[in-house]
Amino acid sequence: MIRYDLICKHDHAFEGWFSSSSDYDDQRAKRLIQCPICSSAKIEKAIMAPNVATSRKKDATAQKQLAMMNEFAAKIREEISTKCDDVGDKFADEARAIHYGEKPERGIYGQATKREAEALHEEGIAALPLPDMLAPTPAKKKLN
Ligand SMILES: [Zn+2]
Repeated sequence: MIRYDLICKHDHAFEGWFSSSSDYDDQRAKRLIQCPICSSAKIEKAIMAPNVATSRKKDATAQKQLAMMNEFAAKIREEISTKCDDVGDKFADEARAIHYGEKPERGIYGQATKREAEALHEEGIAALPLPDMLAPTPAKKKLN
């Protein structure tokens, strides 16, 4: 069974159930479908509400964008985890040691408390907070 949203020549909207689309065409040709309000047999299939189609399209676009973002995030996570050292919760100490030349310069990532991050900032040591989705998995695991 298929359901059609129908509309008569007086714009009365109603619905009809048919065994197939040809069943609908057949009944319509024989003027068997009538408007329940005005009994008109001049019936058309109602045009689907545009907002339904649009929101579905938007969903598809959003899903595509999300997939692209996930792919991008995965690349960044990969980049960080291969090129930088995971220093865990020693991040502030390591960043400071590198900044003051006590340790060789290299990319690091890890966890810092809010206070540690603020202290680094005050000392002029650059450290960027990573959003969860960009944080390499091992670091994220330690966070939780
Ligand atoms: Zn009608």
